[in-house]
Amino acid sequence: RELIVELGERSYPIYIGEGILHEAGELLAARGISKKSPMLIVTDESIAKLHLPLLEKVLQEAGFTAVTAIVPPGESSKSLKVFEELVTKALQAGLDRKSAIVALGGGVVGDLAGYVAASYMRGIKFVQIPTTILAHDSSVGGKVAVNHPLAKNIIGAFHQPELVLYDLSTLQTLPPREVAAGLAEVVKHGLIWDEAFVAWCDENAERLVQLDSDALGYALYKGCSVKAAVVSKDERENDLRAILNLGHTIGHALEAVAGYGELLHGEAISIGMVGSARIGVRLGAPEEIYAVTKRVLSRVGLPVRLPEHLDTDAIMEAMMHDKKFQEGTMTFIVPTSIGQVEINSSVSKALVREIVEELK
Ligand code: NAD
Ligand code: ZN
Repeated sequence: RELIVELGERSYPIYIGEGILHEAGELLAARGISKKSPMLIVTDESIAKLHLPLLEKVLQEAGFTAVTAIVPPGESSKSLKVFEELVTKALQAGLDRKSAIVALGGGVVGDLAGYVAASYMRGIKFVQIPTTILAHDSSVGGKVAVNHPLAKNIIGAFHQPELVLYDLSTLQTLPPREVAAGLAEVVKHGLIWDEAFVAWCDENAERLVQLDSDALGYALYKGCSVKAAVVSKDERENDLRAILNLGHTIGHALEAVAGYGELLHGEAISIGMVGSARIGVRLGAPEEIYAVTKRVLSRVGLPVRLPEHLDTDAIMEAMMHDKKFQEGTMTFIVPTSIGQVEINSSVSKALVREIVEELK
């Protein structure tokens, strides 16, 4: 499958297929990635063991010169310290203005390597080879960033990749929890934009969980398409992009209260999306939205209830830190029907509190 993402004057292809990594040489060359200048591959330790040897071999055989930087797995690698280490590595390897940085990994590696590509010599080419389902989300939109101890993703840029290469075989080694967490964003893309795709996810949940290549390929294609549609429309209609935050207001609060680590991001937003559906129903949307949202998410292996030990006051407190909070009301992305949401800026805090209680 091939999808062309068009954002402003720039456009780039996303190739999705089984075994497509074997064609990396031709695909990179076709997009103008230089064989004369050295490239830097960035990956993490876990992915390096599984998928790096193939990529290195394929690129070498195609005539590319690549050096590799391997960072520890996990969010802590999205730091200025690791950023600096990568710049050092790029300088030592002699990367120049025509060089490219290749991210082989999930959203962590993509955001980190992308930010290095955006900054090194004021911006060099960037190639994404996502190895998680969640990373379909970060492969569209061009946002790249590292974290500051006081705030996530606060040091960043917009930097579009030259191409995205999604080899479905690499996903076969994902731990089941990461599979489900990535599927949360896939389902989210259906819930905000495409009723038929929600029904498809519902029917094909089992195949997705079992990492059936055809099903996964289609789901990633649809997920990327929805994100691309929203992001490109947002350039004209300001604020539309906010709908991508469905489930995230509650989700971020849960992540903060549970302590990062107990709940994966996808697990937290799964519970958040169920809460948002409930809010939608309370504001007059058809009851069915709640049932369907809950069913699809639990079918792909995600939690749909709040861990009981999480304190409602603490969750509300965490949501107050949200900038969107005004007196007594807050802005929420609220489902109005399956596949449709609205940006509602007058959801009462009392209702949110009630829903949080109900989620337990
Ligand atoms: P991740 O990159 O940390 O990957 C999750 C875990 O899976 C890691 O431990 C990793 O080593 C392991 N892993 C990755 N691929 C594997 C494979 N094929 N087989 C076995 N193990 C594998 O996390 P993620 O969930 O992919 O991404 C989360 C990050 O993405 C966050 O930092 C978030 O801020 C960012 N993000 C960015 C955007 C954006 O628009 N830029 C969008 C969404 C999320
Ligand atoms: Zn998210």
